[in-house]
Amino acid sequence: MSGLREEATQLLQELLRIDTVNPPGNETRAAELLREYLARSGIECELYAREPNRANLVARLRGGDGSSLAFLSHTDTVLADPSEWDRDPWSGDLADGEVWGRGALDMKDQVAASAVAFASLHREGFVPSGDLILLVVADEEVGDGFGLSWLVREHPEAARCDFAINEGGGERLVLGGAPVYMCATAEKMSAPFKVRVNGRSGHASMPGIADNALVKAARYLEALGAYEPPRELIPEAAGFLEAVLGEVPPLEDALRRAGELHPALPALVEPLLSLTLSPTMIDASHQRNVIPAVCEITVDCRLLPETTPADVEPLIRAALGSGSYEIEFLESVGGTRSPLETPLWNALARFTEEIEPGARMAPIACAGFTDSHFLREAYGTTAYGYFPLKTMDTELATKLVHSANERIPVDDLELGVSMFRHTARSLLGP
Ligand SMILES: [Zn+2]
Repeated sequence: MSGLREEATQLLQELLRIDTVNPPGNETRAAELLREYLARSGIECELYAREPNRANLVARLRGGDGSSLAFLSHTDTVLADPSEWDRDPWSGDLADGEVWGRGALDMKDQVAASAVAFASLHREGFVPSGDLILLVVADEEVGDGFGLSWLVREHPEAARCDFAINEGGGERLVLGGAPVYMCATAEKMSAPFKVRVNGRSGHASMPGIADNALVKAARYLEALGAYEPPRELIPEAAGFLEAVLGEVPPLEDALRRAGELHPALPALVEPLLSLTLSPTMIDASHQRNVIPAVCEITVDCRLLPETTPADVEPLIRAALGSGSYEIEFLESVGGTRSPLETPLWNALARFTEEIEPGARMAPIACAGFTDSHFLREAYGTTAYGYFPLKTMDTELATKLVHSANERIPVDDLELGVSMFRHTARSLLGP
């Protein structure tokens, strides 16, 4: 295995040395690097690009007519400010067993680990029962329509797959003495909205002639802050509680039981039980001496999988009460889920049980959006977010993603290679 460890480390270092900050992305350089890497193992691939510098890469080990499995990842990254870093964000330095650089955790680590697993399986003569697909896309971080959303629309056969392993999970928590690894099987829908409170403008020196929308907004803001959404036990929450508690408690006891196990757990469980609302922005008059006729409160809102803004608008109206305001949903993205009892789940769970004594895998609906959504939506793919971090502390990893000093232990990179190899062999093996 040490050969693959070194191979993955080197490939990751080379990927990190290519600046793919999005915008502008320039992911083609990373795709070309991967094309050369795969060619050295005798693997051909296709580059698909809406614009020449924004290429998506697809490589395929052809199988029979069994189920197909894709290793999905993205090569673009968010920006990095070198002045905040202890090392150059594009150095790809290897120091104290860790590889440094923007994208080391999100998600060039997974790009490298999946490519090495893919190439090594091919070199060993692995013939999958269904297609094994390496799907490395552009433009995940911004989502301007160059990446997977474009690929599934313009080249639907290139990205079609029955199962996929993507980013969005793998965090490790130690609960009641046993390690639990999160597997993201669903995503909440991001459905931000504005509450537009109407009043009447006027000169601020004579408040009596106006109807101050900012003052009126205060009670709505308080109502939003105090709102307690209805809870329900969705399959992901039930699966998560079952994995960590050994049983599914009644809904009303779930948070208390979680808190008894670990003080940080209720904060993690609560968003699994209901929608969340967080007022984050407010906008009213732009001049001190003008009483605003309109005040807008912007609310970050995340819905449980497979619910829609139309489902929750009546709840929000009931919480705000009557008055002169409008609710406008700004967008609604994500919110898809994959089933929990699948061959992919079983393969990943078995791998997880082997990586350390007592380890279990638990499902979770992640609050953020990932490309898994496009596969689920286009093909009904069973897509999970999973890349177990065993060596790096989860709290630290969470802090480093999209932040300074991003890095990954080589031990976790190697574990990722094993995870991909194990899953492909178990799902598509003889
Ligand atoms: Zn990412």
